[in-house]
Amino acid sequence: MMLRRHFSALPALMAAPGAKETLQAEVFRVQLKHTWTTTMSSSAYRDVLYAKFTREGLTGWGEGAPIVRYNETAAQGVATLQTMRAFFAEANPRQYAKVLGEFFKKVPGQYAMKAAVDIALFDWLGQRLNIPVHQIFGLDAADAPLTTFSIGIDTPAVTRAKVKEAAPYPVLKIKVGLATDEATIEAVRAETKKPLRVDANEGWKTKEEAVRKINWLESQGVELIEQPLPAAILEEMNWIRKRIHIPVIADEACLHPEDIPKLAPYFDGVNVKVDKCGGLLEAHRMIQIAKSLGLKTMLGCMVSSSVAITAAAQLSPLVDYADLDGNLLISNDPVSGVQVVQGKLTLPKRAGLGLVKASAR
Ligand code: MG
Repeated sequence: MMLRRHFSALPALMAAPGAKETLQAEVFRVQLKHTWTTTMSSSAYRDVLYAKFTREGLTGWGEGAPIVRYNETAAQGVATLQTMRAFFAEANPRQYAKVLGEFFKKVPGQYAMKAAVDIALFDWLGQRLNIPVHQIFGLDAADAPLTTFSIGIDTPAVTRAKVKEAAPYPVLKIKVGLATDEATIEAVRAETKKPLRVDANEGWKTKEEAVRKINWLESQGVELIEQPLPAAILEEMNWIRKRIHIPVIADEACLHPEDIPKLAPYFDGVNVKVDKCGGLLEAHRMIQIAKSLGLKTMLGCMVSSSVAITAAAQLSPLVDYADLDGNLLISNDPVSGVQVVQGKLTLPKRAGLGLVKASAR
C-alpha cells in the first residue's frame, strides 16, 4: 500500500514523544497521489503546518493547510508560533475560547496556523475529558453526512481513470473553470451516473458564461455549483440565480464569520473551511450564523493529512454537505482518523480527534 512506502516520512514531532515544550510546530510536506490542478494552481505536494500541544502528560495534535491565495505559508506559521511559546505555556486549555480569542488578537492573519493551534487544543481537551471532540460540541457522530470525493482538472483520459479510482465514493466533486469544462464532464459521465457537485473556483469570467455552463451542467445531473465567479463579484449572482435551478455555494468569497451576512442575499449556501477561518471554534460559529440566515452549509477542506480532515469531520454532523477528502488525495498520511464507509464520514470513537499512527492500523 502506498502509505507504507512513504512511512519513513513521519513528522519529526511525532518521533519525539518526550518533548517538554508546551507548544511545538513544524512544516510537513504531504505528497499528492495525482498532480492536483484547479483554476488556482497545479502541484505535486503541499506544505502543511502541524502543531502539538503538550500538558499533563497528554499531547493534542493540530494541522492547518496554508492557502496560497491568502499569502499564507507553513514556514511563516511555524516562525510565528516560536514567538508564542510563553503565551501557550501559561494558557489554560480548559478555557480554550478565551485562549483562542486572545491569540487571535495578538496575531493578525495566518488562519491556517491558527487552525492548527485550535485543533491541537481541542484534541488535547477531548483526551483530557476522555470524549471525542464532536461531543465537546454536543454532536452525534451518527448525523455525519456523506463526503464527496474530488477530481482535479486533468485530461479526459486521466479524468476517466480518476473516476474509476473513485468507485467507493457515491458523490463526486468535479473541479472545472478552465476552457476544458465540457470535455471534463463528458469524461466523467462516460464512466459514471453518480450525482456530481461542481466547483468552478472563480474560473468563469462573466455572468453569461456562468449561466450557459451551469445550465449545461444541470442537464448533466450536477446538483450544486461552487463559486462560479470571482469572489469580489456579488451583485451578478442574483442575475445568475434567476436563470438556473441548482444551489450556488460561496467558497472563496466566504472566509470568516463576518462574511456570511454579506453573502446571504447572493448565495444559497457557504463552504466553511477550518483552514480559512482559523479552527473549529470559528468554523462552528460560521455554520451557526449561516444556518440562522437560512443558508445551506458545506464543510470543505484543503489538501492535507488526516489530522486536519478528522478535525473538520468532528463538526460534519452539523452540515448539509461535506467535502472532506483532502487526506484521500495524498500518499504519505502519517495518521489514521476519520474513515469513509460507503461514502459516509465515520468518526473515530476514541477520545479527542481519535487519531492513531498510520503504522498502528
Ligand atoms: Mg471550492
